[in-house]
Amino acid sequence: MFGSKKQLAVFLSKLAGFEHPTAELEQYPTDSEIAAEILWTAQLSGELTGRRVADLGCGTGILGIGALALGASHVTFLEIDVRVFPTLMGNIAKLEDATGEEFGNYEILEGDVATFSTDADLVVQNPPFGTRDKGADTEFLRVAMKTAPLVYSLHKTSTEEHLRRIVTDARRRVLSVTRYAFPLKQTMVQHTKKLERIEVSCLKVSR
Ligand code: SAH
Repeated sequence: MFGSKKQLAVFLSKLAGFEHPTAELEQYPTDSEIAAEILWTAQLSGELTGRRVADLGCGTGILGIGALALGASHVTFLEIDVRVFPTLMGNIAKLEDATGEEFGNYEILEGDVATFSTDADLVVQNPPFGTRDKGADTEFLRVAMKTAPLVYSLHKTSTEEHLRRIVTDARRRVLSVTRYAFPLKQTMVQHTKKLERIEVSCLKVSR
C-alpha cells in the first residue's frame, strides 16, 4: 500500500492535528516528513513490520498510525488528554479508508506515562520536550526504555547531552542520533512567527 517513503509522508500529511492544542501538555504534532523518515528507516531495518509498537504521548497518532500503515503487528497508543481521542480515532479511520483494510490490532489507552507499563518490541515517540513540565522528556525516555528493547525518541537538540546520560545510566546505548529542523506551526498564541523551526534530535536507543 505505501510503497515509498514519499507515499507514506503524503498520507500522514493528511491526518488531522490537535483541535485545541494545550501549551502545558506541549501538544505539537510531528511533521509528516519527519514521521515518515523515522518510520521508513525503522521499517528498512526490519524493526517495525510484524512488531509490537508503542506510541507514548500519541496525541493525534501520526507515529502509531504510520506504524500500523507499515505493518506493525499491534500498536498501543497512550495519551493523557482524552480530548484528542476523537481526532485520533478519525485519523485511524483515514488509514482504513486509504488502505481499504480494517485495523483491529491496536489499543488506545488513557493515562500518564509515569504510571504506564506494557511490553512492546519498539517505542516510537515524540513526547513533550520538557520545556513546560520540567523532566517530562526524561520521564518519557525512561518509561520507553522499560517498555521496549528499541526506542526512537524525539527531543530538543539542546537536551541531547543530558538525555545521553539518562540512557547510559539505564545501561542502554544510543545507537544513532538524527537531527531535524522541526517545524512548529503557529497553533498557539505565544508563537509570533508564522513557521518557526527548532532543532530536534531523534535518539535511537537499544539494549
Ligand atoms: N506524539 C504526537 C504528539 C506530540 S505532542 C505526535 O508525534 O504528533 C506530546 C503529546 O504528549 C501530547 O499529545 C500530550 O498531550 C502528551 N502528553 C503530555 N504529557 C503526558 C503524560 N504525562 N502522559 C501521557 N501523555 C502525555
